[in-house]
Amino acid sequence: MININKHHNLGNIFDKINKSERINSDELLNLLDDSENFNEIIQYAAYINKSVNGDNVSYVVNRNINFTNICYLNCKFCGYKRTANSKDSFVLTIDKIIEKINEGYNIGINEVCVTGGINPDFNPDFYFNLIKSIRAAFPELHIHAFSPQEIFELSAKTGFSFEKIFEILKENGLNSMPGTAAEILAPETRKAICKDKISALQWTEIIKTAHKMDIKSSATILLGHIESNADIVYHLDLIRKIQDSTNGFTEFIALPFIASKTSLKHQIKTGISADSQKILKFYAILRLYLNNFKNIQTSWPKIGTELAVQSLSCGINDFGGTLMEENITKSAGGNFGEYLGEKDIISLIKSAGKNPVRRDTLYNYIQQ
Ligand code: SF4
Repeated sequence: MININKHHNLGNIFDKINKSERINSDELLNLLDDSENFNEIIQYAAYINKSVNGDNVSYVVNRNINFTNICYLNCKFCGYKRTANSKDSFVLTIDKIIEKINEGYNIGINEVCVTGGINPDFNPDFYFNLIKSIRAAFPELHIHAFSPQEIFELSAKTGFSFEKIFEILKENGLNSMPGTAAEILAPETRKAICKDKISALQWTEIIKTAHKMDIKSSATILLGHIESNADIVYHLDLIRKIQDSTNGFTEFIALPFIASKTSLKHQIKTGISADSQKILKFYAILRLYLNNFKNIQTSWPKIGTELAVQSLSCGINDFGGTLMEENITKSAGGNFGEYLGEKDIISLIKSAGKNPVRRDTLYNYIQQ
């Protein structure tokens, strides 16, 4: 328990946290709007995180593969997509993907994360065969693949229900999926930044279907663009409700928007991505609000390793993965690199005074 001054303007919220009571969405808005109590918010988040995870900070040795940058959608925050005619568009063959995974396998990855742009020329069989081929080549590897947007496209192209799509993917070897394409789930702002994407309702339905079929996923938010604090409240409230009903999210990942090579860069309102203190405060608030999440992950490709290390004292308990390749952030103008070796991650975690623990995708600790 942390002692609080009863007259403190966030006193009621801190009092609830001390009593392990859940804070509500009005209180979340107060925390987001507050500009005077950075230290206290961080202190409470660190306290809660310590009570849940001790000094452990986990990480995963994984390889990321983006198999195409051709996409027919037009998300304003995206610097990655290309049309088929673009000089730098690409499509990886299944053989090439297997070769890339093999490079990771040789250094001991236990997860591959596979996603791509929404390429209109892809046949659903490409997706099904891709998972089948990875499973045949790497029987033990955890396959974390396809965002809810990709699942939606597969359903639209085949006429199959989401459930049926997951059934086929599972039979072929899929283990879990990234909870990307969430961006911001507040409907109006979502429409303003990615009008072609699946709606918040569809995203929720796909994620709930996956969880029901024991396909776990991460949960994400894209922040630092034109969203309001009320939009963030809407998003986090929905995510917390889904977790209450399914318990299928493995972790929450906040993704600060990298603007420099995107069409949204001239409209930015919040400035969170360029303000280290705001990012740390946001991470801390996630720990305070998402009390049904054990794991909250930092994002070193978006914010850099220095700030990622600082975030470990602000309620964060997971450092994410080695990745090996991260084209999406780089294409949007991110310059924090695409690969961190396991040794680098361990030493970064130790530099924060924490205990590094290797994990698998589902957060089981791996003894080394
Ligand atoms: S964010 Fe994904 S779906 Fe949107 S345009 Fe970029 S590649 Fe396409």
